[in-house]
Amino acid sequence: MKWRVGGRELRPIIVKITLLLLVLLWVAGCAPDNRPTDSSGGSFGQQNDKLKVVATYSIIYDIVRNVGGDRVEVVSLAPVGSDPHEYDPLPADVKNTADADAVFYNGMNLEAGNSWFEKLLEATHKDGPDAPVFQISDGVEPLFLTSAGSEGEIDPHAWLDIRNGIRYAENVRDALILIDPEHETDYKANAELYIAELDKLHREAVERFNHIPEDKRILVTSEGAFKYFSRAYGFEAQYIWEINSEKQGTPSQLITIIDLIRDKQVPVLFLETSVDPRSMEMVSEDTGAPIGGTVFTDSLGKPGTDGDTYLKMMKWNIDTILNGLTMNSN
Ligand SMILES: [Zn+2]
Repeated sequence: MKWRVGGRELRPIIVKITLLLLVLLWVAGCAPDNRPTDSSGGSFGQQNDKLKVVATYSIIYDIVRNVGGDRVEVVSLAPVGSDPHEYDPLPADVKNTADADAVFYNGMNLEAGNSWFEKLLEATHKDGPDAPVFQISDGVEPLFLTSAGSEGEIDPHAWLDIRNGIRYAENVRDALILIDPEHETDYKANAELYIAELDKLHREAVERFNHIPEDKRILVTSEGAFKYFSRAYGFEAQYIWEINSEKQGTPSQLITIIDLIRDKQVPVLFLETSVDPRSMEMVSEDTGAPIGGTVFTDSLGKPGTDGDTYLKMMKWNIDTILNGLTMNSN
């Protein structure tokens, strides 16, 4: 017997969902510790006079490195390729946070899973009002989640609009000047150069996306991380699940996005580097809409690869989305 809802055959997708759930359960039981040995992990050196800075994930790590230059030594808590929504700090993270002259976090609900960041600040006595802990997104105009049960919660993915990335860089500059006023000139000069590059990339993106017809500007990803990006560059953002801290790839989420892709004749779908690709691959197979590429959302690329800085990951995303839409739209 085949189940039909609204004239559509449901059995194959349910079999695929069941298989996917079994695979995910198996993988969860044997996930490796994938902490890389690049410069975003590790511990602070002891023999220098640089500011010791902790960033909660790799994108902030890179922005601080650009603005701080050789005055700062930065480590990232959530390593490259991992999900900063939910992270389990290791003993080295606790030590680094305790030793840090400054701690930068995104806020806006990003580091909220299991309250991992809040607990880390408590454990390292950096939870007081005078602690050098800075919310890098301060001053960004927030957008809100819309899915049932999370309405009214702030969407954290502000950095995917480059203008917000500029705000992040300004906040880092001001915080570094506050804790190390002696090097104000350095931080201002670094920030000015960096912001000019970000601004140029933003302007180019606006110009290039203008060539895509408005009705083709639809961006379907696994996690709904592209609200800020979409507002900046005139896209409609759609997704399988709205935010990584909720259930990912449930049958009802899959059926909803599959219906939407068919209704709107979405030409192309995108994967994210820090999200499991299998739900979207299944959606692609079921709808026939091809995967147009893999974009960066919550993490940089591994060092030495495309997207290993915030500037490069944003450039990669812009190029990939443009290519995906151009190659697959008729
Ligand atoms: Zn995310």
